[in-house]
Amino acid sequence: MAEETLFSKIIRREIPADIVYQDELVTAFRDIAPKAPTHILIVPNILIPTANDAVAGHEAALGRMITVAAKIAKEEGIAEDGYRLIINCNQHGGQEVYHIHLHLVGGRPLGPMIAH
Ligand code: AMP
Repeated sequence: MAEETLFSKIIRREIPADIVYQDELVTAFRDIAPKAPTHILIVPNILIPTANDAVAGHEAALGRMITVAAKIAKEEGIAEDGYRLIINCNQHGGQEVYHIHLHLVGGRPLGPMIAH
């Protein structure tokens, strides 16, 4: 069993977070250290530590993460101009929290995809 992170506590509303969306599969909340005017994390309610751990049984939750990102982007008013969806995996990907999450980042031009 993978170890829970603080994101499980946010999902269960045991610690505070600015939750913007929640349903039976996913939860979305504002990043505590935003890198852009809109920076929201969308996470599955069940613990999937990294992209490496994704299996077919997770597809409903993983797919919902993207449709929810699109809905929130519209609500945030950034859909037309565009935004970036990012999943970091393990050390080289820069993953800090081992509960898979989709970053929805936008509200300004984001520059090159990968910093050199
Ligand atoms: P990653 O590097 O992809 O694992 O991203 C982890 C993200 O979680 C970072 O952008 C952090 O700022 C964010 N984060 C860490 N703790 C919290 C928290 N308590 N509430 C909201 N976002 C958080």
